[in-house]
Amino acid sequence: MLDLPRKRFAHLPTPVEFMERLSDELGGPKLWIKRDDQTGLALGGNKTRKLEFLLAEAQAQEAGTLITAGAVQSNHCRQTAAAAARFGFDCILVLTGEPPQTFTGNILLDKLLGAELVWTSREQREKTLAQVFSECEQMGRHPYLIPYGGSNPIGAIAYTFALKELLDQGLIPEWIVFASSSGGTQAGLVVGSRLYGYEGGILGISVDEPAEVLRIRIADLACKTSELLGEEIIFLPEEITVNAEYLGDGYGIIGAPEIEAIKLFAQTEGLLLDPVYTGRAAAGMIDLIRQDFFDDVANVLFWHTGGTPALFADIYNHLGV
Ligand SMILES: *Cc1c(COP(=O)(O)O)cnc(C)c1O
Repeated sequence: MLDLPRKRFAHLPTPVEFMERLSDELGGPKLWIKRDDQTGLALGGNKTRKLEFLLAEAQAQEAGTLITAGAVQSNHCRQTAAAAARFGFDCILVLTGEPPQTFTGNILLDKLLGAELVWTSREQREKTLAQVFSECEQMGRHPYLIPYGGSNPIGAIAYTFALKELLDQGLIPEWIVFASSSGGTQAGLVVGSRLYGYEGGILGISVDEPAEVLRIRIADLACKTSELLGEEIIFLPEEITVNAEYLGDGYGIIGAPEIEAIKLFAQTEGLLLDPVYTGRAAAGMIDLIRQDFFDDVANVLFWHTGGTPALFADIYNHLGV
């Protein structure tokens, strides 16, 4: 396998913990958690792993400014801002939404970390992003564009190695469950499963996209990721396991299932989930346990992908309007 340029700043390996009280409470399989909320970069999350590879490329290209985009409460944007600060890049974040009255959660941290914020609308966001990029170029600021969620093949390979990291920790769960959105996490994991011989299921709970859209995106990204690693594996959409039954009223809109999941993790395990991603994915996992989806399964691993700062954002920021 090819050796790709990587900066090392994530706190790895992240711990794997047994959730005894939650497992007892739900009466299904043994539940474990992989703590990627503890990756160590300004409150952590899954984007930190991807940024180790993306920043290495930005440095190799002698970039001066990192540009990326996301929702108002984007965890990806916050981790990018932190990585930029740590390695001396300027950072511009293109956020879709209205500038809020008060800066809470991730946008409070974006500001604190010194990022420039540019606000745009859903319709205008690609145009705004292109504009910001070309303005930077013209000003000689050497921009490097990181895609939504850091989900290109360079970002996704981080999760190929993360799967290896999990296997090296000695737990081989029958299922791995987590929140899936821009697809880099899942694409990396499925590539890792082929390369390192993991035979369990990799179940992405969609937080915003229909299952078919996500499957196609992830299969495509997984093909390209394996190619980047010099291994060229074909992945078909039907080989990607996505559940989109838990979208509720849409992206970032908290419903009763998310609230139940967040409280249950907090009150049985002292673990903090976020309202947008991990709360929704955990709600899906809880429902699947109640539906006996994991019948005869001994071990399920919930991969915590971070997002904790969004717990401190006001409800307005979660409305996605
Ligand atoms: C970005 C994000 C995800 C989704 O990961 P993708 O690689 O974009 O699919 C899940 N959870 C949290 C907390 C995130 O910030």
